[in-house]
Amino acid sequence: MRYLWAAGSWGTVLLLALLLVSTSGCKGPRLLSTDEEIRLGQQAGDEFEQEHGRDRDQRRNAIAARIGSRIAQAARPPDYPYDFRVLADDEVNAVAFPGGRIYFFRGLFETLGYDEDQLAWVAGHEAAHVARKHAVRRIERSLGYELLIQLVFGQDTGGQIAGLVAGLMLQDYGRDNELEADRLGLEFTKAAGYDPTAALAVLDKFAQIQGKDPNRLELLFMTHPGNTTRSDAVKSHLRQRGWSGKYYRP
Ligand SMILES: [Zn+2]
Repeated sequence: MRYLWAAGSWGTVLLLALLLVSTSGCKGPRLLSTDEEIRLGQQAGDEFEQEHGRDRDQRRNAIAARIGSRIAQAARPPDYPYDFRVLADDEVNAVAFPGGRIYFFRGLFETLGYDEDQLAWVAGHEAAHVARKHAVRRIERSLGYELLIQLVFGQDTGGQIAGLVAGLMLQDYGRDNELEADRLGLEFTKAAGYDPTAALAVLDKFAQIQGKDPNRLELLFMTHPGNTTRSDAVKSHLRQRGWSGKYYRP
């Protein structure tokens, strides 16, 4: 706040008073608390899960649980209750809801050859969207606090708000957030004890699918930014950190 003051001038006193009032009244949009954010993600996730169905395959669920618990340890702080689940959906995709609910789509496992380093980087990328609050900030911007709080308190009986939230979660976050999630995903992957260079194998596979059959790769890792930009950014981060592995040696 700027101080405007001239002794003895009532006009200025009035102006100062007005400034104080307008400054204190201008707080910006109300944001969800962390507890509200977590509850929102769980409500919207439950609805999303009902639509797609849970995958009951033991092997895939065991992999998701194993990777999930290691990435959850690495993804702190902040301390979200990360919860990784598998959907019975053959799309090649993954999606993160606010507060730590993260879904692998079944199709991702086949495409990545059940390679746990590669799956771990995808998990790390999604966890980064949660940790950096990309997910919750976008839905707050799009839908506003008043609407979301209805979902938080279970007043969304028809599931319409949950549907809107899920729709937003399935879009990409734009270039800067995606690159940040790629980078932070590398950090989480490495800290969780996986090979972070596997990120390059994932990006290669997505580029191949995109070239052959653009419709199959639903929304994960598409459009912004391009795969080449992302691979280059990943390589440069690996070089900076001095990390090498199966898919890259600087
Ligand atoms: Zn992303």
